[in-house]
Amino acid sequence: MNFELTEDQKFIRDEVRRFAEAEIAPSAAKRDLTQEFPTALIKTLGEQGYFGMFIPEKYGGAGMDYTSYVLAIQEFAKADASVSVILSVTNSLAAYSIFHFGNEDQKQKYLVPLASGKKLGGYMLTEPNAGSDAGSLRTTAVLDGENYILNGTKNFITSGMHADTFIVFAKTDPEAKGSRGISTFIVDAKSSGLSASKKENKLGIRSSDTCEMVFENCIVPKENLLGEKDNGFKMALHILDGGRIGISAQANGISRAALEAAVKYSKERKQFGKAIADFQAIQFKLADMVIKIEAAELLMLRAAWRKQNGMSATKEGAISKVISSETCMWVTTQAVQIFGGYGYMKEYPVERFMRDAKITELYEGTSEVQRIVISRDLLQ
Ligand SMILES: Cc1cc2nc3c(=O)[nH]c(=O)nc-3n(C[C@H](O)[C@H](O)[C@H](O)COP(=O)(O)OP(=O)(O)OC[C@H]3O[C@@H](n4cnc5c(N)ncnc54)[C@H](O)[C@@H]3O)c2cc1C
Repeated sequence: MNFELTEDQKFIRDEVRRFAEAEIAPSAAKRDLTQEFPTALIKTLGEQGYFGMFIPEKYGGAGMDYTSYVLAIQEFAKADASVSVILSVTNSLAAYSIFHFGNEDQKQKYLVPLASGKKLGGYMLTEPNAGSDAGSLRTTAVLDGENYILNGTKNFITSGMHADTFIVFAKTDPEAKGSRGISTFIVDAKSSGLSASKKENKLGIRSSDTCEMVFENCIVPKENLLGEKDNGFKMALHILDGGRIGISAQANGISRAALEAAVKYSKERKQFGKAIADFQAIQFKLADMVIKIEAAELLMLRAAWRKQNGMSATKEGAISKVISSETCMWVTTQAVQIFGGYGYMKEYPVERFMRDAKITELYEGTSEVQRIVISRDLLQ
């Protein structure tokens, strides 16, 4: 048992922190207001190796371990949660899928450009009528000669307008019941018949784009089938096991940002002739915030450690996501409370943290879905 980060892990965390504080955090509020996608910033982060953080160097990645990856995502999220989700999707959903399930040709053609930061990734599982029940998806993929023809609609797709390479789930066996008969495809954003049709106007993570994506006789070469045909739903669940650890990191980063802001403000704001930090009610709120954040971080690190050591992280990833996201919602709400009325205003960052927090309880499986995963493990 060792609770110390390695020198490499500390180095990566500190490097990202330094860069994110200087180059990302100062403009986060403006992007939140304008909903502008951080194109130039994301390009720079790709060039610096943050699209393929845990992908081996031979495939263009940075070759970090999974713990370093979550520490990096946490630091990005502390500066701007929108940036962190763009990176988290491209790393743990898109690049990971091809790394884990792809053949060598697919890795050379699609993983190397992703991991080396030349292309951005996206992940298309959700549909208008298939959210938590993703296995009921209706997008179809029909083999026609050398190509699959995809038809259907995906919604709430992160980076839908900006990603170059998508991992897409579609039904290949129409006769198969429930979540059976689904396959996974690597789809180029420029494929004929694929379009981003509607950009969502969101509560939080507003500078990441979230889109509806439409497949109308979209042509996908049959060699872009990823992994085993008709095994896509199991693959989706496996991929999300890792993705959820990334979302935990996002949540913990937002929590840390809210805590830091609350500590600073409580020392500056004076009422009744003293700093509000002198009131025990405020001190206890701050103490409770740090208690919950540190517990969430430890559970996140346990899940990341299991993932990097090749162990199952299904239950541990779900526990990590529940505690991290629910802590994040609670901590950011407390931060607004500590700021009083000023916390409700856009002049201060805590209202943004509170808005950004909410999504971590929703995507890559809601808190209810995580509890299904955890209780299933307990009861089986
Ligand atoms: C900003 C954003 C970005 C996203 N990015 C992506 C992306 O890049 N790719 C992608 O594929 N998807 C993405 N999603 C989709 C996301 O994963 C889904 O929204 C999420 O899984 C929930 O599905 P739903 O919204 O359809 O809610 P529903 O499934 O309709 O759930 C509604 C409510 O019912 C509850 N519920 C449902 N089933 C059960 C049950 N069996 N037991 C108890 N409670 C239940 C849910 O927990 C929730 O509270 C994104 C969503 C958002 C909002």
